[in-house]
Amino acid sequence: MQKKQAVSILDLPVHPLTMEEAITFIQTSVQAQKPVFVVTANAEILMLAQDDPAYKELLQTKADLVLPDGAGTVWGGRTLGYDIPERVAGYDLFLRLLDVAAHQGWPVYFFGGAPGIAEAAAATGRVRYPGLKVAGTHNGYFTEEQVPEIVAAINASGAQLLFAALGAPKQEKWLAAQAEKLQPCLRMGIGGSFDVLAGKVKRAPAWMQEARLEWLYRLLKQPSRFTRMLALPQFVVRILTAKHKKD
Ligand code: UDP
Repeated sequence: MQKKQAVSILDLPVHPLTMEEAITFIQTSVQAQKPVFVVTANAEILMLAQDDPAYKELLQTKADLVLPDGAGTVWGGRTLGYDIPERVAGYDLFLRLLDVAAHQGWPVYFFGGAPGIAEAAAATGRVRYPGLKVAGTHNGYFTEEQVPEIVAAINASGAQLLFAALGAPKQEKWLAAQAEKLQPCLRMGIGGSFDVLAGKVKRAPAWMQEARLEWLYRLLKQPSRFTRMLALPQFVVRILTAKHKKD
């Protein structure tokens, strides 16, 4: 399957795929044993990249798929006149891929989160997706010296899918830096998804997601996110400025 041409949001590529198209693209790549590096780009990630040239370059040149995660990215793309069919949330894509992996027999590696969280997420994954093969787990708190042994453990596990839950931009930078050495076909950063699957953090209720209020739910549950969320109004201003320049 050909992936659609990326649109440009604040100088960053975003592939306007639906959830189903993203899954088909990833599945085809894994079947062909072609490495695929997936980033689910919410507005916070797009803003982080504005002030971090290395992260920006990574998204522009290293990521194979940059998906429109979050209401902000979808709104931003549409405001700039692009046809963004839907939001492809990282957590939803992660769950769908666990389902695909269970059916295809693809072993999955859970990398990231506080000690014990990757194991707990993997255990829930096994219950929810019968047949899911967990190739291995490792927490996300490690030193630079431990990186070679983590990469070796991931490769020795025979994993086809690698989910890195280290938060952005750390997870993408780690996956890009190790790209040549890693063997799993899918490499994808998924932020706090293990915390959610492990039941440590709750996802916003469906009505709030539909009302595009997931950010508000997260803010109320984790007020420490306030400083991070200041990026969101700045994102709105940047998008409106970019639209004004385009018109
Ligand atoms: N984390 C990690 N290693 C680090 C820093 C963070 O494994 O050095 C984990 C952290 O435990 C949490 C996740 O990365 O599970 C980041 O979650 P956050 O809610 O920030 O991500 P989001 O879902 O907002 O992208």
